[in-house]
Amino acid sequence: MQTALISGAGVAGTAAAYWLDRFGWRVTMLERAETLRTTGQNVDVRGAGRDVIRRMGLDDRIAASGTGEVGTRFVDARGRTVAEFPAGTGDSDGATAEREILRAQLVAALDDVLPDRVEHRFGDAITAVGQHGDRVEVTFQHGRPQSFDILVIAEGIRSDTRDLVLPGRVHIRDLGQYIAYGAIPRLDRDDRWWNWLPAGRGRAVMLRPDNLGTTRASLAFLAPPEGLERLEPDRQIARLREVFADHPGPARRILDALAGDHGDFYLDRVAQVRLPSWTSGRIAVVGDAAYCPSPISGMGTSLALTGGYILAGELATWRDHRDALRRYEERMRPYVAKAQQLPPGAPRLANPRTRAGVALFNTGLRLAASRPARALGGRLFTPPAESIDLPDYGLIRHG
Ligand SMILES: Cc1cc2nc3c(=O)[nH]c(=O)nc-3n(C[C@H](O)[C@H](O)[C@H](O)COP(=O)(O)OP(=O)(O)OC[C@H]3O[C@@H](n4cnc5c(N)ncnc54)[C@H](O)[C@@H]3O)c2cc1C
Repeated sequence: MQTALISGAGVAGTAAAYWLDRFGWRVTMLERAETLRTTGQNVDVRGAGRDVIRRMGLDDRIAASGTGEVGTRFVDARGRTVAEFPAGTGDSDGATAEREILRAQLVAALDDVLPDRVEHRFGDAITAVGQHGDRVEVTFQHGRPQSFDILVIAEGIRSDTRDLVLPGRVHIRDLGQYIAYGAIPRLDRDDRWWNWLPAGRGRAVMLRPDNLGTTRASLAFLAPPEGLERLEPDRQIARLREVFADHPGPARRILDALAGDHGDFYLDRVAQVRLPSWTSGRIAVVGDAAYCPSPISGMGTSLALTGGYILAGELATWRDHRDALRRYEERMRPYVAKAQQLPPGAPRLANPRTRAGVALFNTGLRLAASRPARALGGRLFTPPAESIDLPDYGLIRHG
């Protein structure tokens, strides 16, 4: 039986683990955190990603765990509606996807369908990797060194193991924006829309529903890198207070709530990952670690699901791992290239700096939401989630 070590129990890691196990591999899943990570906000499952979920028998569960968001609504500083875009009704359309779920609930659902024979190892991480003959030899922070047939790196955008095995190869394409996310107490006036307020000076304030009785809040602002993502939450929140100081109302409500409880608070730079090759010998990189398209694309989760499925399917199909890893890249590259193509000027144009810029942006939104624009079939906010044919790898069932 072939063996795989998967490092990172996020979306890509759990999807790859499920499929490798289904195809008859012995799988060990390593996660740096002590448990599955429970933070994160609304993520979209679209197109081919949704097909993978269906093939795992999880579509109904994901539907039942949906956030209940009915669409995306742009509002002005007084809370008046500027433009509304109802949620998608198919596999891929809409800024709010038909299958939208909290990241933690998606990862929990993916993990729940892993059989017990998939070994979970929490609270450990890789410190060294060597490739000798036909084995990958791995050294861990805590556990004993071990060797595997294949190492899959699924550690997300800031992957350490990727940087260890492919030093100097990754290019993080910075998109000039910070986004902070958190869960805050729900108020009666919070509705089921993704309420998006362009707040001027390159800022945005967003409130979204969830299925846990809280409200999901985001604060975004354009700025050059200043290392904010590496600071403690208290200092991050203090900086956000400076950035949104002139903006009472929702921004202050969000920051007051997060200052009291930052259990679910998360701040990062908006960025994409570009990696010239996603494989090296018997090592493959998958999901955000290899090809993060950024949260702006709405495609990160679908790429992670699809990448995990295709990587596992190709490894099950080819006798020689070199053929399998080459096919994984060939199948995924064009899909990833499309997903990483952001709308022109993103995120700058969607976050105007001046009052006139906000007014112009709102005019554009009203036009895009108008009946004639919709009648013309305007597929605004519809990412290229279906632009890949998912092979049907004949399932080898065991157990
Ligand atoms: C805590 C968190 C919150 C997020 N919140 C949002 C959000 O609100 N909106 C959004 O659009 N996207 C969010 N994302 C990103 C989103 O999950 C991904 O874009 C997408 O689902 C692709 O998933 P992935 O499995 O490739 O990476 P991720 O979901 O980032 O998962 C990577 C996993 O690897 C683990 N890991 C990292 N380094 C190591 C290591 N050295 N050794 C072992 N394990 C390691 C991490 O703990 C994590 O469990 C979040 C990611 C994380 C980790």
